Amino acid sequence: MDTSPEQIAALVRQLLDFDSLPPIVQAGHPALRQPAVAFDGQIPDTELQALVTLMRQVMHAAPGVGLAAPQLGIPLQLAVLEDQHELPENLTQVRQREPLEFFAILNPSYTSIGSDVASFYEGCLSVTGWQAVVHRAAAVQLTYLDVSGVAQQRGFTGWQARIVQHETDHLSGTIYLDKAVTRSLSSNAEYERHWAQPTIDKAQRELGF
Ligand code: ZN
Repeated sequence: MDTSPEQIAALVRQLLDFDSLPPIVQAGHPALRQPAVAFDGQIPDTELQALVTLMRQVMHAAPGVGLAAPQLGIPLQLAVLEDQHELPENLTQVRQREPLEFFAILNPSYTSIGSDVASFYEGCLSVTGWQAVVHRAAAVQLTYLDVSGVAQQRGFTGWQARIVQHETDHLSGTIYLDKAVTRSLSSNAEYERHWAQPTIDKAQRELGF
């Protein structure tokens, strides 16, 4: 894909001119598989703000807890994150799923904090209908620019750390299936039928991973 500043600007303008919410592209789309380019002023501030607002709307409508620009076909290092979902308490406790206030990240990178690993099922809006277990760092330090262009550093743990890693990975052309335990792969229907539990213990035993 062409990642020239002109092309990025044209792709964004096309999205912003759309009358309805743009579709989330699915696995196989080239934008999901190439390193996104760093934000470097390719679009003016007003359009960046409008794009962030649009991405938040698409994320809410999906619904999801994160969306990266490549998922709208734009190979730019931008993602939005927000987790306000109400879940049963046994789930939120085991998964350490704390609410995450909406924020947008530009040019992010993360490093693990410590060596603890958390293993849970996750899914992706660009791989509709499936879920798989991914072993991820239980805590990460995220470095990014906020939408005002100010450099930020923030630590995340639990489910928030999972969302941060998943979305940041999108910007280097990585989708969660690249890191997943493939034997755990489950359609949403089979997941609901058999493996929808706070931990992955039963799935691990019975699917053999
Ligand atoms: Zn995803």
